[in-house]
Amino acid sequence: PMVRAHYLDQEPNFAKVVARIGSNENPYGPPPMARKAISDSIEKGNRYARTELRDLIGKIAVKEEVSPENIMMGNGSGDLLEKTALAMFDKGGNIVSADPTYMSLIRVAESVGATWKPVPCKADWSHDLDAMEKAIDKDTKLVYLCNPNNPVGSVTSTKALTDFCNRVADKVPIFIDEAYLELVEGADNKSMVSLLKNKKNVIVARTFSKIMGMAGLRVGYVAALPSTLDSIKKVTKGGGSGIACTSVYAASAAMDDIDFQNSTRKLNTEAKTYLYENLTAMGYKYVPSYTNFVIFPINMPGKEFLTKMSDKGIIIKAMDIQEKPWCRVSIGTKDEMKLFVSALQNIS
Ligand code: PLP
Repeated sequence: PMVRAHYLDQEPNFAKVVARIGSNENPYGPPPMARKAISDSIEKGNRYARTELRDLIGKIAVKEEVSPENIMMGNGSGDLLEKTALAMFDKGGNIVSADPTYMSLIRVAESVGATWKPVPCKADWSHDLDAMEKAIDKDTKLVYLCNPNNPVGSVTSTKALTDFCNRVADKVPIFIDEAYLELVEGADNKSMVSLLKNKKNVIVARTFSKIMGMAGLRVGYVAALPSTLDSIKKVTKGGGSGIACTSVYAASAAMDDIDFQNSTRKLNTEAKTYLYENLTAMGYKYVPSYTNFVIFPINMPGKEFLTKMSDKGIIIKAMDIQEKPWCRVSIGTKDEMKLFVSALQNIS
């Protein structure tokens, strides 16, 4: 059965907006150390930031315990999701992924002729890895796997995922989107980057947009085998030349701002707990989430829900999954969650 999430469009009244909880942003960013790095680097904006970019790649390689040749930078990880899709599907083929999942790479792949092979998530909304493996055929060019998975917030166990990659990556490259991995608490949160040590053909995407609070500053990267990166680079001049000098400095500083990352995780969990308690009190059954967003079924059509939320100044997502309406709410500040809860009480 097709379970895919159809996102519905909201037309927010920006003059009224009181809470932006629709795009899984980090409400506390940018980190203090990144703010300072940006202001200190403004005067360097007349030069290309080639050396600084090379330094940032070196620093990321040390953190990920890989070589700089394993890293490719992008304007946010979304840039690299798109470039990977363009490079891998220029001759068609199919892409296997969970359903629902984050659709950006898949949409671009389809736009150049790929076929999507969706595999429904399991009852707990985690990846059905056995079914995904069975869905792979001779035309499969890539497996896309988002962990934790957007829009559902579920985590797939490290052991099961590692075994899957060890079995499958010799046949088909596996793209693992770890945009939300650093936000995970209370479940497996090990990156699949370590598989590169054994030359497994995984492409792991990470971003500065979530835990690092820099969505608008546009920095992300993938870690992959150098030969795989070469094949992605055929559709682009290289990697990272589109990242602004100030953002390169900000990214490097953000990596050092461990206090900010820890505090984001703590505040996210507190606001999420507050949301859970209130959703339960109102009779909503949410899907337990390991990230900074939560989905739950709503009792009115998604379009109507979005209009009512716009009237209350709340930017939010609604989608149909299995033909039923759901809300996806990002975890904002506690104050934003209070506004959301009161809006929800008012409209239902
Ligand atoms: N991957 C997932 C799963 C996302 O949810 C997002 C954004 O929300 C992205 C990638 C892209 O983010 P960015 O381009 O800001 O790194």
